[in-house]
Amino acid sequence: MLQCAMITTIMESSQVTIWPPLYTVKKSTRAKQVRLSIHPQKGLTIHLPQHTRRPVDIDALLIEKKAWILKHSALLEQASKKDPMSLPTSLLLSAIDETWQVDHMQNCAKPTLFAAAGSRLVIMDKDLNIERAIRLLHLWLKKKAVQQLIPWLTELSLRHQLPFNNAAVRNQKTQWGSCSTSKNIQLNYKILFLPKALAEHILLHELSHIQHLNHSRAFWRLLSTLDPHCHEHNKALKTIESELPAWLY
Ligand SMILES: [Zn+2]
Repeated sequence: MLQCAMITTIMESSQVTIWPPLYTVKKSTRAKQVRLSIHPQKGLTIHLPQHTRRPVDIDALLIEKKAWILKHSALLEQASKKDPMSLPTSLLLSAIDETWQVDHMQNCAKPTLFAAAGSRLVIMDKDLNIERAIRLLHLWLKKKAVQQLIPWLTELSLRHQLPFNNAAVRNQKTQWGSCSTSKNIQLNYKILFLPKALAEHILLHELSHIQHLNHSRAFWRLLSTLDPHCHEHNKALKTIESELPAWLY
């Protein structure tokens, strides 16, 4: 199935710790030229345009960009010191104006998560296993996103007369959302953690693919009529991921 996603195709995965560095290569429909990025959780990524005519010499590229990579690898140092599996004490879901306190309690019953009064999420487990608690949080976030993001997408779709076929929520590693040729939209539940304007920008981006399944000028023209700050928002999305909690990845 053809898809137009904000970022596509992970080819190889690892993290920068030593020289020569380990890296991830992504083919992107948005990349016009080869670009590097460093992310605390994802490490070094080499973004390649979706359709490159000649093969890219990665070794030569790494040598050429060595100074930049070493300068920015401080970010990765920081990330490796952070415990990615620590349980959050609260969830700030800016996109929907909700904050939830997270309580982890020891209990001999089956691991459970439930929402209690006062915007409290209670996770009960016999041995306070962090990994299990995080899995329960991910399941809760997915349900929350279905309840909140899909009605929001539907409302925008009706308002702008851009009807989609079906919508679903997932936790894609590299995409905020996608839209297929069959007009099926998928949204990432990490969107819940974004500022409202950026969350809406993603929904409008995917809805614009209902008319244009590419990132052509016509696509951007349509998106800019729906979101006049679309270029600014698109730029902000490229850097905001590093501010999201590590346990979400
Ligand atoms: Zn797109």
